[in-house]
Amino acid sequence: KSGFVSIIGRPNVGKSTLLNHVMGQKIAIMSDKAQTTRNKIQGIYTTENEQIVFIDTPGIHKPHNALGDYMVESAYSTLREVDTVLFMVPADEARGKGDNMIIERLKKANVPVILVVNKIDKVHPDQLLAQIDDFRTQMDFKEVVPISALEGNNTEKLLEILKSNL
Ligand code: GDP
Ligand code: MG
Repeated sequence: KSGFVSIIGRPNVGKSTLLNHVMGQKIAIMSDKAQTTRNKIQGIYTTENEQIVFIDTPGIHKPHNALGDYMVESAYSTLREVDTVLFMVPADEARGKGDNMIIERLKKANVPVILVVNKIDKVHPDQLLAQIDDFRTQMDFKEVVPISALEGNNTEKLLEILKSNL
């Protein structure tokens, strides 16, 4: 069984860190600087019976120039190419205009969306629950999965959910 999954979200939420963690090697570029993921980067996760193609995407922001516009559209273009979208948000930053803009595009796309709340190592459980509740008021998500891509917390659970949806 196989499927395509794209990871989208604002810059710096941890998209590339998740892909790197899943792949167990540094294949995407990680950085504190926004926009270091210039193009769609794919990683193929394989087990004996399953194959999941992950597409890491440039952070979605309000574009200021043609390159920015190209990168943002390249991230959105994955919505038409995948079976599931991982919409990643950080646990430690309140939902803002950037997230709302992405949510509007996700609602128009006809694809299941899993909300991945990353960086749970940075917040108290109460703050995590409040964040999840807040995002749930905006959209129906297929699943909500809190993780720490950096420390690998709950990333196995995320993989299990993706595998069960293949
Ligand atoms: P991207 O722009 O969404 O691809 O974000 P990156 O993967 O490049 O990560 C941006 C920054 O967030 C880096 O400094 C990462 O080390 C950090 N980061 C990513 N995931 C986590 C996490 O789960 N916990 C913490 N504390 N930091 C994280
Ligand atoms: Mg990146």
